[in-house]
Amino acid sequence: MKNLKIAIQKSGRLNEKSVQLLKNCGLNFENYKSSLITTVGNFPLEILFLRDDDIPGYVAQGIADLGIVGENVIDETQAQVEYVQRLGFGKCNLKLAIPKDSDIQDLKDLNGKAIATSYPVILQQFLDEYKIKAEIREISGSVEISPGLGLADAICDIVSTGGTLKSNGLKPFADVRSSEAILVGNKNLLGNPILTELLQRIQSVLLAKE
Ligand code: ATP
Ligand code: ZN
Repeated sequence: MKNLKIAIQKSGRLNEKSVQLLKNCGLNFENYKSSLITTVGNFPLEILFLRDDDIPGYVAQGIADLGIVGENVIDETQAQVEYVQRLGFGKCNLKLAIPKDSDIQDLKDLNGKAIATSYPVILQQFLDEYKIKAEIREISGSVEISPGLGLADAICDIVSTGGTLKSNGLKPFADVRSSEAILVGNKNLLGNPILTELLQRIQSVLLAKE
């Protein structure tokens, strides 16, 4: 049977825990930082190291069979992938935040305002749900500085401790969505025996952690 391919983040917040999970499943592989692909010695699996943003699309297209990626990225890319297993790490919250001295008090006060974010798709869905008409300004990084620069009245970004918000004169205002790392799979993969074996091992590792 053909090896399966699993895509994990090359470097960043999900890399270490994704590698650790696979190692805890008893998989032997070299974690070469420089290579894009590595073969597991004792299991029919290859590991692709990618930017997290590319993972849902690769899995949806079947270039990778499986992937480990945050729900925020799955939703933002709107890739058609199956949720195989919630993994319990990479937990974070996507929140709206406003300047400490802002006159915005209620969600409806966002009408007519500009909101900076790297998550325009998720933010648009949220605004639609609450029937808010605001302008979304898409920014790829350092979203927190945009209100201070006069680029936006609010931001929508991932918040973990709130320290970055505070140091930029912002405060959390509303929760948009929570997120954790998910094992996703291509929809044609269901019932694949290699996946069944891998999933059993992953679930044992997760159970042992509880
Ligand atoms: P890449 O280079 O792969 O595109 P990135 O900079 O987009 O990386 P990271 O900052 O490494 O992404 O975050 C990867 C994922 O980790 C996020 O998409 C999110 O699901 C999760 N995550 C968990 N905690 C946090 C946090 N405090 N801030 C940002 N992301 C977090
Ligand atoms: Zn990314």
